[in-house]
Amino acid sequence: MPNFFIEDVFFRHGVHIGVQGFWGYWIFAIYFVAYFFGSLIVLFRRWRVAPEPLKRNIGFIIWSVLSAGILGVIFNLVLPSPFFAEWRFTWLGPIFTAIIVGTLSYAIARHRLLNVRVIAAEMLSVGIIFILFMEALFAKTEQERILRFVFFAIAAFFSSFLVRSVRREVEQKEQLESLAKDLEFANTELKKLDQAKSEFISIASHQLRAPLTAIKGYVSLLIEGSFGVVPKKAQEPLRRAFSSAQQLVSLVSDLLNLSRIESGKIKYEFTKTNLGEVITEAVQELETVAQKSGIGVESVPVNLNVKVRGDKSKLHEVFMNLLDNAIKYSKEGNIKIKTSEKGKNILISITDNGIGISKNEIPKLFSKFGRTEESQKMRPDGMGIGLYFVKRIVEDHNGKIWVESEGIGKGSTFFVELPAFG
Ligand code: ADP
Repeated sequence: MPNFFIEDVFFRHGVHIGVQGFWGYWIFAIYFVAYFFGSLIVLFRRWRVAPEPLKRNIGFIIWSVLSAGILGVIFNLVLPSPFFAEWRFTWLGPIFTAIIVGTLSYAIARHRLLNVRVIAAEMLSVGIIFILFMEALFAKTEQERILRFVFFAIAAFFSSFLVRSVRREVEQKEQLESLAKDLEFANTELKKLDQAKSEFISIASHQLRAPLTAIKGYVSLLIEGSFGVVPKKAQEPLRRAFSSAQQLVSLVSDLLNLSRIESGKIKYEFTKTNLGEVITEAVQELETVAQKSGIGVESVPVNLNVKVRGDKSKLHEVFMNLLDNAIKYSKEGNIKIKTSEKGKNILISITDNGIGISKNEIPKLFSKFGRTEESQKMRPDGMGIGLYFVKRIVEDHNGKIWVESEGIGKGSTFFVELPAFG
């Protein structure tokens, strides 16, 4: 706008000198000050209520706007004003705005102050709308102007949608990110709690085991008459006390096994192990329990020479668990144990005529606390940890375990497949 901001330009001592136009100068001065200091007020208001780390970012920007603004006032307003007419440094003012650009870029890149995608979409939309508006304004014919205004209106309408949808998408993404962070935090907290729980179980069960074993031992001695003849009236209560102690011992050992799994502290001593022997020992140990329940145990034929590379005591626990379950979940009949060769593997099956398992409940049995409805009615004292532990041991021996059953009331067969030795 000639004669408005600068009225005249002339050349003196090798530099361009401008003469400030009166109205132009003051309008520019008011605009400049209002723009910079108005933005400072807006920023300051946001700064007061912003949470950290946004507060710190806004603080940065306030300082950069303030310093660039003051330098701009000095070099672009005060010095070239009609009072000083010093024009040599006007190029410095715009250069100092680089301070704002720098701080903003840093805050965006490092602290995600503004979302670049939203800003880009907004700038693109506003740019297009502005160009269309200018084109409409400077159209040559009336018809062209109307047409361009229509274009402008359509573009304005749709770009507002575009900006809104980008903003929404970005907001959702941010929400998701913060949710993911919360989840991660909750997860680590849960892991800590879980570890604390495992440690508690481990300590508690270790402490319980010794006194329980003592109780069981003394009651057993009492029943056997080691401390004199037990009166008839006391015999049954003593037997009950013994079986309750027995139950507690197996509960504690289940809990201990669980805590071993959870803390990853199952230790193995792998040696050449005679599987036939392991199974026979387990059968012998449980024979009296089976007899008491009126159940027979058949081994057809347990090949005494099958050998595996394994931890003898852990494998013992595997078969004790499986046999104990077969007895526990049967009311009558026989339990059959079969050993056969399957390629380079040894396959052991334990079949009972017990309560059976419905097809849809099979998948949960080998997981922690997995129990069938039927078994919960029959034996409310079970915990559903035995098979979880057994599966872990078998898998650590590079073996497999699974169960087959024709359904409820039709018995079940548990299979264990282990690699043969050598
Ligand atoms: P528990 O016997 O203490 O419940 P287990 O982990 O040994 O725990 O067994 C898990 C569940 O598998 C049992 O609760 C029962 O529902 C089912 N189960 C195991 N063995 C048998 C079986 N021989 N016959 C029927 N159900 C069985």
